[in-house]
Amino acid sequence: MAAALALARRGHDVTLLEAFAEPRPVGSGLLLQPTGLAALRALGLDEAILTAGARVDRLQGRDTRGRQVMDLDYADWRPGAHGVGIHRAVLFDTLHEQLAPAGVTLVTGARIQSIETFANPVLRAEDGRTFGPFDLAIIGDGSASALRRQVRPRARAPVYPWGAIWVNATDPEGQFSGALRQVYHRAEVMAGVLPVGRGPEGGPQQVSMFWSLPVADFDSFLAGSFDHWRTERLRALWPEAARLLEGQSGWQGFSRAIYRDVSVGRWNRAACTLIGDAAHGTSPQLGQGANLALVDAVELAAHLDGHRRPVAIAVSGWQASRRRHTALYQTVSKALTPLFQARGEVWPTLRDLFFTPMSRWPGLKQLGVLLLTGTLRLGRFPPATRP
Ligand SMILES: Cc1cc2nc3c(=O)[nH]c(=O)nc-3n(C[C@H](O)[C@H](O)[C@H](O)COP(=O)(O)OP(=O)(O)OC[C@H]3O[C@@H](n4cnc5c(N)ncnc54)[C@H](O)[C@@H]3O)c2cc1C
Repeated sequence: MAAALALARRGHDVTLLEAFAEPRPVGSGLLLQPTGLAALRALGLDEAILTAGARVDRLQGRDTRGRQVMDLDYADWRPGAHGVGIHRAVLFDTLHEQLAPAGVTLVTGARIQSIETFANPVLRAEDGRTFGPFDLAIIGDGSASALRRQVRPRARAPVYPWGAIWVNATDPEGQFSGALRQVYHRAEVMAGVLPVGRGPEGGPQQVSMFWSLPVADFDSFLAGSFDHWRTERLRALWPEAARLLEGQSGWQGFSRAIYRDVSVGRWNRAACTLIGDAAHGTSPQLGQGANLALVDAVELAAHLDGHRRPVAIAVSGWQASRRRHTALYQTVSKALTPLFQARGEVWPTLRDLFFTPMSRWPGLKQLGVLLLTGTLRLGRFPPATRP
């Protein structure tokens, strides 16, 4: 939606083909970083997001022995800097509402199954309808992309062995406001609470809560007793977080999340390009995926502006520039995820050795803050998305 909007605003004729019959958001909450907020500013949507979301000033992680493993403050990057926790439905609605006024033609219920031609792309939906030819097809069908291997046959996207379950809860007194908080028991258990502001219908302040799990254990975990988990496991780990779920009687509202490590080499084939998670999905450990995707969208539109060369060449220039950002986060996310989601003693010991000094020593702290804010990039951000 962000790419469609950015391109339509620059005068392109845009058709957005969406698989859902009714547009709807997936998942529960997201942390928008200064990079994602800069991309939303370029779309004129940052104020709306700030008003609806929850300001996040720091990231704090502690273990069950009460040791502070991580304590990173956005203000250490720049005074006044912050992230914004946002309900996915609110981000979705904010973008969606802008599509029609910007002149985007939205076609729902169009699950694209194949790309018939790559130079002037023609796309075929599973119900047999065809769309195109277009000058450019931007394939943003997420980390589980069904179209990725048609664009790049050697692409790989293995599912990471650990995932998480998520739920939204209300936090009317704002007990969890201001920070993304995490609690770890070794690397086998990780719980987190992210303030996300108001839901799409308004109402009290909400938080997104997550609990990490091996993907192989999802079914047995969710077949087990909710009350036992909340009162025995969550309460023992984090009593305040367990209280957020006091009014809840079962697993309703929980969603499962799995992650993929996407590797595709080049993102495009002729005038078809991958974007967002379809091109560079990773584990959400660093909370960057949606931010990278928003920056992709705005920078792509800027690259295509007034371009007189073939579209594939403009797309290659955009890709080369974006890789200086996305490749760093893919590599670091891949390296760091086992420190938070793995069995045994080795990984959490490494995590504590790495992150505890990172939160305290000036040089290392700066690196941690660059990682957190999403601003680690080789070279400068272009003006369109400079945070
Ligand atoms: C548990 C979890 C927590 C996360 N937390 C954060 C966070 O805090 N911060 C952050 O920045 N990121 C976070 N992420 C990552 C973030 O959700 C993704 O990076 C982001 O949603 C990617 O956006 P996208 O548009 O590329 O793909 P998606 O959001 O997956 O959107 C894909 C779209 O394509 C449509 N589609 C799919 N297949 C087809 C088809 N064949 N034809 C037509 N349409 C199709 C779908 O309906 C959907 O609308 C998290 C991810 C997970 C799993």
